[in-house]
Amino acid sequence: MLPFKLVYSDDYYLPIGAHVFPAEKYQRIHKRLIQTGVAEAHDFVTPQPASDHDILLVHTTQYVHKLKTGTLSAHEELEMEIPYSPELVRAFWLAAGGSILAADFALNDKIAFNIGGGFHHAFPDHGEGFCMIHDVAVAIRRMQRDEKIARAMTVDCDVHQGNGTAVIFAGARVPSLQLPSRGAPVLNPAAARMRNANADDVFTISLHQENNYPLFKPPSSLDLNLPDAMGDDEYLACLGNAISLGLSKFEPELICYVAGADPYREDQLGGLSLTIEGLKQRDALVFQIAKAERIPVMVTLAGGYAQKVEDTVTIHCNTVIAAKEVFSQAISA
Ligand SMILES: [Zn+2]
Repeated sequence: MLPFKLVYSDDYYLPIGAHVFPAEKYQRIHKRLIQTGVAEAHDFVTPQPASDHDILLVHTTQYVHKLKTGTLSAHEELEMEIPYSPELVRAFWLAAGGSILAADFALNDKIAFNIGGGFHHAFPDHGEGFCMIHDVAVAIRRMQRDEKIARAMTVDCDVHQGNGTAVIFAGARVPSLQLPSRGAPVLNPAAARMRNANADDVFTISLHQENNYPLFKPPSSLDLNLPDAMGDDEYLACLGNAISLGLSKFEPELICYVAGADPYREDQLGGLSLTIEGLKQRDALVFQIAKAERIPVMVTLAGGYAQKVEDTVTIHCNTVIAAKEVFSQAISA
């Protein structure tokens, strides 16, 4: 039995037809975790869809209305890059409900997973890049509304920048803390673009490949624009530095870890060069820091487009295994 919950539903499947997004990955991950004995049936909990009220904590009334009535423009549907259907709307409402539930469990159990979600390219008023609804933002806003937390941090390790997250939590910008970035060595935290976090209640960290979607990257609290083909060691150093820097500026009561599988070197939509083992070390690093700092972590899966879907499934399953290894250990003083 795992020392934490995995929120999952077979209905996480996204009805998008033949697509580079492997919509069947959620079911495969669930099956693999059970077949390999990593998890048991009762480690999983089934979410309910988020309410419209929850969705409206992040998204605009107009956008939600368009989604519910099937009245997106052709351009809006094209921008989302997944074909609209009422069933797809239901799947995204369910993913958001899953992240709300996982956040709630994380606050009680130190860590919890949504075996789905991580749709970090959704904006308040439109969807982009396979993302219709920003489940992580909805979960954070719901936890704040219920006064379970005041401050959260997102740690986004998908290979693509978390543009929706950056915009949703932009808050009041204070331009004075723009640090030099152009041409500076990326391993130096001072090279990261950093925005003053004090005005905001959510601190957003994004580690991503610079030369990749989205073309325009709205500023997160802390962006690490990584060069093409970065490997495990450099990446892990960057990640450790980024989280340390973030935690030196901000004290979150919840970390939302967006554990994209697409920094993998064989990803079709990514250009970094992490190995499967390096990605597991990445996950372990996030969990070790959160555990040591006693900050609860809610995990979502996000992207993963490996040439072999089985690799994407392995990388996502390894995130659960890394958490099991870290959180099964006794807390050291
Ligand atoms: Zn991605």
